[in-house]
Amino acid sequence: MYYLVIDEGTTSARAIAYSLDGNTLMISQKEYDQIYPKPGYVEQDLKIVISAVENSIKEVISKLGNDILAIGIANQRETTVLFKRNGRPIYNAISWQCRRTSQLCEKLKKQGLEKTIKEKTGLKLDPYFSASKIYWLLHNIPHALQIAEKGELLFGTIDTYLMYYLSEGKIFKTDVTNASRTMLYNIYEDKWDDELCAIFGVKKEMLAEVCPSKHLFGYTAKTSIFKKEIPIYAVAGDQQAALFGHLGIKEGDTKITYGTGCFILTNIKNLEYKAKDLITTLGVRYNDEKDYVIEGSVFYGGSLIKWIRDNLGLIKTAKESENCALAVNSNLGVYIVPAFTGLGAPYWEAEARGIICGLTAGVNKNHIVRAALEAICYQVNDVTSLITKIKKLNNVYVDGGASVNDFLMQFQADILNIDLNRPENVERTSLGIYYLLALAFKNDITTLNSGKYNKIYPIMSDEERKLLLKGWDKAIDKAIGK
Ligand code: ADP
Repeated sequence: MYYLVIDEGTTSARAIAYSLDGNTLMISQKEYDQIYPKPGYVEQDLKIVISAVENSIKEVISKLGNDILAIGIANQRETTVLFKRNGRPIYNAISWQCRRTSQLCEKLKKQGLEKTIKEKTGLKLDPYFSASKIYWLLHNIPHALQIAEKGELLFGTIDTYLMYYLSEGKIFKTDVTNASRTMLYNIYEDKWDDELCAIFGVKKEMLAEVCPSKHLFGYTAKTSIFKKEIPIYAVAGDQQAALFGHLGIKEGDTKITYGTGCFILTNIKNLEYKAKDLITTLGVRYNDEKDYVIEGSVFYGGSLIKWIRDNLGLIKTAKESENCALAVNSNLGVYIVPAFTGLGAPYWEAEARGIICGLTAGVNKNHIVRAALEAICYQVNDVTSLITKIKKLNNVYVDGGASVNDFLMQFQADILNIDLNRPENVERTSLGIYYLLALAFKNDITTLNSGKYNKIYPIMSDEERKLLLKGWDKAIDKAIGK
């Protein structure tokens, strides 16, 4: 008997089997491509998403059998699906990365709605979140408004759509972490917000029931894949799930994920803080308590290394970046600011563009690769500095594909001047869901064990840190065009 965790990400779906005591028994991953209809537009074909999910599940079941005790789901957040009550989507899913609603968001800002939205949802008025994507679908897909008028249209983030699909229409629910990313959910009052729904033209009957992350959401249908009904006991958005995957449940507990982008989440427990430049959102709800989390992100994290590899051809593999960086003693004054699509927190300069600066005759490719890794750390530091203004950090955990890079982690600990905790298993999202499932089956939170961690201590002198940060500030000024 085992738990099945479905991790539905932006470019792949994975099914992970956990033994009841938390060992990973098997992982099956199926990748898929997003669709880019025009610049700034990003969509996902739901048939392809569903088949990736099903194929990954099938692979696990074919090896381990169908004796599944319960299912849990982690998912890409904000991605928006409108579908009919019969389960058919009326259009592709609009990806969280899609910027098609930037004009609409600008218009709403001009109407002075930014403050109301921030106060109710904790979010920035931005195309990133689901609400403006729903508005776009309602007004651009033929008959969408009429279908909604008839009460036949439903909205879901990917978790909701997936549960609706797996249960053949019986489960129409979501969890608090996902709801808090839609920009329609009042995170203080814990309910869908009438005023916000009116702003975005969303009827209440289109919205799923919001549940805690640990909850009996319902049962899958008895399909050819599952062959019996299986309970779904856990659902959470991927970033919050990863924080929970480190058991980051104490005030100040922070996790930094180094993937394509970097996501920094700090558990602030209560809402005595209103983070101006950051997002406030809801943490995984595993008991009656409500955890608030602040979140900041870096657009180009590991993807900067991919760019160095694929676009500049300086390295053959991402892993090689570590040896390049260690082959030289310093950055020799080279900085890269990857403002490919402008600069986010704390600069908010949409017109800034990327630069490589500080080039002198002694610079070789290793310095540039090193500057790229260092740039990831400076950007994370910029966001973390905003967080530490309002909250003292407790344990800081790292995870994600690039966190295996020792140079990157040491430089990060040095620049942040804090200890980092790196787990032996850097895959924490599905583990967070496993913990929720284990709790659903009567385990106590104190009995959960987050496994082995290595500590990475800062060793850089204050003087050197200051000098490096000064260089970064100058590079930022250049990218902004000061
Ligand atoms: P995601 O889940 O966002 O797709 P992953 O967590 O799998 O991303 O991390 C992959 C990213 O990390 C890629 O952008 C890759 O360039 C980068 N990466 C992977 N391994 C390393 C490494 N050893 N050093 C630096 N960057 C790495």
